[in-house]
Amino acid sequence: MADFKTHITASTLAGAAYGYWGTFHQGMSIESGLLAAGLCSVSGMLPDLDSHSGVPLRETSMFASGVVPMLMINRFRDLELSPEAMALAAMLIYIAIRFFIVEIFRRYTVHRGMWHSIPAAASVGILAYLVMPTPSEGARVYKSVAVVIGFMVHLILDEIWSIDYRRGKFRLKRSFGTALKFWGSDLSGNVSVYAKLFLFAYLAWGDQEIIERLRERERWTQPHVAQHQEAPPPWQQWFPVQR
Ligand SMILES: [Zn+2]
Repeated sequence: MADFKTHITASTLAGAAYGYWGTFHQGMSIESGLLAAGLCSVSGMLPDLDSHSGVPLRETSMFASGVVPMLMINRFRDLELSPEAMALAAMLIYIAIRFFIVEIFRRYTVHRGMWHSIPAAASVGILAYLVMPTPSEGARVYKSVAVVIGFMVHLILDEIWSIDYRRGKFRLKRSFGTALKFWGSDLSGNVSVYAKLFLFAYLAWGDQEIIERLRERERWTQPHVAQHQEAPPPWQQWFPVQR
């Protein structure tokens, strides 16, 4: 098993390359590039949340409880929360992550169970997509993919570390195939991970539309906010507005 330092180094290098690629080849802003690099780096710790060994769980949960509310600012704005309500939401998210989510990992995951899997990586990516709405859909997908890359780098490293090279011979350790997998031996684990994946995918599928609708409402209830109104709302063709 690759250790904590190896994982974080690899995902940080991958994140730096991904940030560079996004900023200089895909037209992302510097901030998006740096943020994606950071998300990829941190995501390299995520799979070992099931290891119960302390460091990944403690570090990741503290980091996430601080950063997730900041990443959700656009989400809060779309819900038209006041700054006070945003602060309150940040507190609730902190409590939810530090106490509930951590406890769920402590109790319900086994090391190298279904949390170390490709569908788990996909779920985490979709969850990141749901948490961080961005005006530009491209930037939103770009940042979500950063999370998946970090997670996958971890899984790949775990597999590489389970190949043993001794006396000129390659040998597979028993852990081989337990990280980069689509399903495991435990049926309930499989059902649970795929159920979550489909749920998140379903939510994400409808999400962009919901946000568009919220923004549309904002534009029409607060016309002074609207800088540029592209298309008139569809009802105008039946009820023309008298000017
Ligand atoms: Zn691992």
